[in-house]
Amino acid sequence: MTHSCPRETETLQAVECRSQRTISDDLRLHIAACPVCSDLATVAAAFDGARNNLIATAALPDAGRVWRQSQLRARQQAIRSAGRPITAAQLVSFGAAMGLLGAYVGATSTGVQAALSWLQRQSPTLDSLAWAAAASAFVADRWLYFAVLAGVVVLVPTAVCWALSRE
Ligand SMILES: [Zn+2]
Repeated sequence: MTHSCPRETETLQAVECRSQRTISDDLRLHIAACPVCSDLATVAAAFDGARNNLIATAALPDAGRVWRQSQLRARQQAIRSAGRPITAAQLVSFGAAMGLLGAYVGATSTGVQAALSWLQRQSPTLDSLAWAAAASAFVADRWLYFAVLAGVVVLVPTAVCWALSRE
């Protein structure tokens, strides 16, 4: 007894498409004679009938309800992602980047180099009040540089934290 037939595919297609076109007499005779194709046609017709029955009785949900549910889901997703904490790896990498930026600015900026050499010159004759007055005069001379530096130190971490929290 064989469990396959070379005309199985043809039989299956013919049964599935029987509403669009009629099954040829040749294939109809083969299905009646061949046990494999006979079983296949019976099972395929049952599945096809069940599928058509399901399609005819299926109730589609209201479009407005689907839209509201998708809006609610998107809002919940946004709330979840906004509440997600910044990971430790992001904080460490950000700290390393800020440290590198600070080292680069310190090593390349003439203002920082001048401040360091000025501090070295002042150190032997260090008088606390005179030192504070001289330091404030130094900062007042270079107020724009210190304002930009303070802005970078405050604004860049704030911007990065804001950008990461929006992910
Ligand atoms: Zn057959």
